[in-house]
Amino acid sequence: MDQIRDAIQAGDTPAEDFANMPLPESMKAITIHKDEETIFEGVDSKDKDPRKTLHLDDVPLPELGPGEAYVAVMASAINYNTVWSSIFEPVSTFGFLKRYGKVSDLTARHDLPYHILGSDLSGVVLRTGAGVHAWKPGDEVVAHCLSVELEDPAGHNDTMMDSEQRIWGFETNFGGLAQIALVKSNQLLPKPAHLTWEEAASPGLVNSTAYRQLVSGNGGGMKQGDVVLIWGASGGLGSYATQYALNGGAIPVCVVSSEDKADICRSMGAELIINRREEDYRFWKDETTQDPKEWLRFGKRIRELTGGEDIDIVFEHPGRETFGASVFVTRRGGKIVTCASTSGFVHEYDNRYLWMNLKRIIGSHFANYRESFEANRLIDKGMIHPTLSQVFPLEETGEAAFHVHRNLHQGKVGVLVLAEAEGLGVRDTDKRDKYINEINRFRGI
Ligand code: NAP
Repeated sequence: MDQIRDAIQAGDTPAEDFANMPLPESMKAITIHKDEETIFEGVDSKDKDPRKTLHLDDVPLPELGPGEAYVAVMASAINYNTVWSSIFEPVSTFGFLKRYGKVSDLTARHDLPYHILGSDLSGVVLRTGAGVHAWKPGDEVVAHCLSVELEDPAGHNDTMMDSEQRIWGFETNFGGLAQIALVKSNQLLPKPAHLTWEEAASPGLVNSTAYRQLVSGNGGGMKQGDVVLIWGASGGLGSYATQYALNGGAIPVCVVSSEDKADICRSMGAELIINRREEDYRFWKDETTQDPKEWLRFGKRIRELTGGEDIDIVFEHPGRETFGASVFVTRRGGKIVTCASTSGFVHEYDNRYLWMNLKRIIGSHFANYRESFEANRLIDKGMIHPTLSQVFPLEETGEAAFHVHRNLHQGKVGVLVLAEAEGLGVRDTDKRDKYINEINRFRGI
């Protein structure tokens, strides 16, 4: 592994050297174990501790199949799906691996008693499988996390519609929290040359998701002047949604839970901010009863901030806790675009507000290759910036996931894998210099 790391760090190692470099038989990886699936039985969700179940193991290098690539991972990142996997909620991800294993002889490799997690990476291609022409050893890349088989017609307009669509490193094995990751070559994207390894690895999953959910015609189709309500506006998804809204000429109304987080939104350029803790919204009177008066109070606050306007698009992901309020505050003909249910999957809202006012609820999930490419292109062009607040070494991935689970983080939390320190991997210093103020401002997040 040292030889691979040194060759990458040199920055000018010829492609054929990478192609000829011997590969190790095993590697270090962050795993969860199937025999620990029930370890948290009876424990409250918020008390389930990812540090107990995320292990640093030596595992064999998986076999390389056609259309695939091995990538030496310099850095990765924590996503909320790492948290879900580590606490075995809402279901154990070993069920996903088992089902994927039944698709073909090749996918059977994924059904193992350990699951290598991670849905983001930056690194260097080491080998490609048969039929891969667009990428070669030595290419510096990031990976998006859409894994598709594309063997039936369903996915050929929009790959997210493929009947065998999965999130790599969550619903498949061999993810990015490992020294060598196994990806399909159609997950690869060029690494922005002005970013460090850890900066480049951090936007992937959330940036692409926010792009589809808010910008793409498959999601919110945001346009100039739209008033966009962004829950968790300084968080993983939200810190990108806020940037997209500002970048696209929309007006973000950012909801956060502390003044520090409000300051982060201000530093991104947002002006309309609601501190939900300070306002103490109680959308639910008890576990089963919502309080429409609180929806009204929330809507009034939005109107105070916007000069009387309601919301064109809600960027929804907290779910049960906020969904009723989200539907209520959306303007006539507006959209509630949802990609998650962090606080609970069974949503309740008053349907009169939806149908009488011709509002629409749109489900959104990750992004297709084209959308991921666009989202990465905007990073590459210095129009959207990584929001990386903390970086942990691979062996402290449990601690990193604990921070995200407890909402102690801001923006994204990175993980160094083969990179020995932060700050490495910048290949275009002129371009970095051009955007350095923005990079530093958003890194502060
Ligand atoms: P994150 O970094 O933890 O940010 C979420 C933010 O939402 C939190 O920081 C918090 O911000 C806010 N929030 C959490 N619970 C809330 C509640 N009950 N009411 C109001 N606000 C709440 O997580 P993330 O990476 O943005 O992911 C958020 C969710 O989206 C997760 O469930 C994740 O699994 C899901 N997700 C789905 C996809 C997809 O493709 N479908 C992709 C990415 C993520 P404040 O405390 O500041 O309000």
